[in-house]
Amino acid sequence: MPDAVSAAPPSPADHCVLVAGRRLLTPFPRRADLAELPDDVAWVPLGALDGVRVWAAGLPERIDTLGRWRGWPSVAASLGEPLAALAGRALQIVTWRHSHRFCGACATELVDVPGEHARRCPGCDLYVPMQLSPAVLTAIRRGDEILLVKHTYGPTELWALVAGFVEAGESLEETVHREVGEEVGLTVSNLRYFGSQPWAMSGPGVVLTGFLATAAPGAEPVVDGKELAEARWFPLNDLPDALPPTYSISRWLIDAAVAESAR
Ligand SMILES: [Zn+2]
Repeated sequence: MPDAVSAAPPSPADHCVLVAGRRLLTPFPRRADLAELPDDVAWVPLGALDGVRVWAAGLPERIDTLGRWRGWPSVAASLGEPLAALAGRALQIVTWRHSHRFCGACATELVDVPGEHARRCPGCDLYVPMQLSPAVLTAIRRGDEILLVKHTYGPTELWALVAGFVEAGESLEETVHREVGEEVGLTVSNLRYFGSQPWAMSGPGVVLTGFLATAAPGAEPVVDGKELAEARWFPLNDLPDALPPTYSISRWLIDAAVAESAR
């Protein structure tokens, strides 16, 4: 899939995903519906939807006359796939471009590298690719129970999973063991990779990876009080209502643990 700023502008029938701040314009308009946009908008190809090309662009501010501007969780919850993934991808790429305008070494304004999601410094030739930030989520089972936690940040009302960013020099598995140890003081075994999801909510380039793991019988969590407010074992057949949304890998992991225990 070609992926970079294109010299050729979108065709009138192409779909456009517009981003302003952390908001997306919905429903996604066609280019022909956006006559009032300035000519200097940088269009980034996102792929195709039913054979029609899709483009992303960032605007310096919302233009309210164009339609309704919504956050990604609302878009993901209501539109579903594949629109949710396109919206998330647009948000991540536009946010990255906005926060990588100047060279970190010599402060010259960066230019786009044709055909790539990358920029280059015309001053010192520094190459600046769009870097990804992997993070891990772990669904920990103890027999027919699952460990759910409440975070002190983000959506604090939800019962979620132990999670954390991969640090330099770590494997994903090492991150799981470190985060589980730091956040809830547990040792886990039987670590199994489940899947992954690009996640537009936590900043540009975040890729969530999910794992299933097992804690020893009788093991009890001890919350760190910094990142977590609470951690509790729940029977897999009697989970709380306030779970992560159905479009999130957190929820897919919880559902997988439920299915696993029902077998
Ligand atoms: Zn430079």
